[in-house]
Amino acid sequence: MENKCLNCGITSEDVVLLSCQYKGEALYVCVKCLPILIHGSH
Ligand SMILES: [Zn+2]
Repeated sequence: MENKCLNCGITSEDVVLLSCQYKGEALYVCVKCLPILIHGSH
């Protein structure tokens, strides 16, 4: 199974993905979107 960034959908083929958890679910976020999540733009 391919891991994708939860925000932009990019895969680990193209960018570094970081694993994280939200509400008990394993999610992945890329290094580009991580700052967006940290700053809570949505
Ligand atoms: Zn992303």
